Amino acid sequence: MLKFFGMRIINLASGSDGNLTYLETDNIKLLVDIGLCCSEVVKRLALLNVCPEQIDAVLVSHEHSDHIKGADVFCSRYNKPIYAHYEVWKGLDEKLKKIPDSNKKMFEYESFLLKDLTIIPFSLPHDVPCFGFAFENNLKKVSILTDLGHTNNRILECVQGSQVVYIEANYDKEMLGKNEKYPLILKRRIAGKNGHLSNEDSACAIANLVYGGTRQVILSHLSRENNSPKTAFDTVVRELKKLGIVEGVHVRIDVATNLPGVIFKLV
Ligand SMILES: [Zn+2]
Ligand SMILES: [Zn+2]
Repeated sequence: MLKFFGMRIINLASGSDGNLTYLETDNIKLLVDIGLCCSEVVKRLALLNVCPEQIDAVLVSHEHSDHIKGADVFCSRYNKPIYAHYEVWKGLDEKLKKIPDSNKKMFEYESFLLKDLTIIPFSLPHDVPCFGFAFENNLKKVSILTDLGHTNNRILECVQGSQVVYIEANYDKEMLGKNEKYPLILKRRIAGKNGHLSNEDSACAIANLVYGGTRQVILSHLSRENNSPKTAFDTVVRELKKLGIVEGVHVRIDVATNLPGVIFKLV
């Protein structure tokens, strides 16, 4: 059989209710975050004809439940290694009681290799230790960055040159401001330096990445309460246009939801 050479990536769930991304190369099948319950993870993998037994490893960005909900059961039931930064493990360890220590894998700030996949972790400003990832294989690059209050040069440098970028567009400023269900302290946390990216913040980072060659962006981790796919898309497209970047011409923008998205093949 012909070898494929390249990466395939698909978001299987995104947003405050749970995050799950599947990435594969010829040699590795990886889950990035596992914020759905184990049975739902298995169901969504089945849509790709992937069995849980085939997964090589789970990579986790941070300890919030929308990123680790299924980790304990999935990794213990199927005996899978779980990778997180050592700062993340400080809060994660006590939440994952079923997973044996031998399957708890730690990385540091440097990039590392899992089979034929290079993983470049970078720290994100969130209210707990949190990491984004760039993945490289066969001269292609894809990045995932969600749960960050702002971007900085170091983050953008790590993501720069990615063909495909999953980036958070968490909230619409007006919807968050008017949301009467949220106490002021929570609104401040979300909109703060260590909270989440607004649609405008996201557009600003996307512009920077488009100048560096990114041609496909997926708006991710939308708030169910304070955003909608249409609002996120329209705001980002409008903000990019102000900077001379036209959606569909210079970059393609899609929106990730709580349902499985599109497979991107990087060859
Ligand atoms: Zn989250
Ligand atoms: Zn979070």
